Amino acid sequence: MDKQLKLLAIAKQIEKCQLCIKDKIGKAVPGEGNSDAEIVFIGEAPGKTESLTGRPFIGRSGKLLRKLIEQAGIDEESVYITSPVKYLPKYITPKPQDIAHGRIHLNAQLDVISPKIIVMLGNVAAFALLNEKIMTSKRHGEIVKRDERHYFITVHPAAALRFTKMREILLSDFKKLKKIVKLYN
Ligand code: URA
Repeated sequence: MDKQLKLLAIAKQIEKCQLCIKDKIGKAVPGEGNSDAEIVFIGEAPGKTESLTGRPFIGRSGKLLRKLIEQAGIDEESVYITSPVKYLPKYITPKPQDIAHGRIHLNAQLDVISPKIIVMLGNVAAFALLNEKIMTSKRHGEIVKRDERHYFITVHPAAALRFTKMREILLSDFKKLKKIVKLYN
């Protein structure tokens, strides 16, 4: 089966998954993008706009993320964008059990795509993937190598919309990311 079909099959599993939908609302947001992506961006959980459409990162923080991707000289069509939690939680901020379940689907997606670099946007993404509580505002810009995967730590764009300091962090990290991507090519 080719990669795109495998990702489609995972998306179908997510849409049918009774654990994913528990305490959540709206449409499933499995993720979207290039099945051969060298860079995958991982957020937290869909917001209202995403849960209405089923598409990841299309609200305010998504617009910032997509702008930064473009400014970093990365073609949006070449990346994959998703989140560990695949539905909007009723309580907005995902609980540890939502993340623990979501990481199963997320890891399946990453195994298919096998990207060169996984960008963890914020603490929830880092917890989902490294199973560690990481303060991304402190460890941003770092690359963690684990199990053949390379993880880049940065903050979530929603934080960057709220705090100037976080916006500066995100901007400088994306400049770094641009250099890293060039090195990997
Ligand atoms: N924030 C996320 O983490 N994911 C989305 O899809 C939208 C907003």
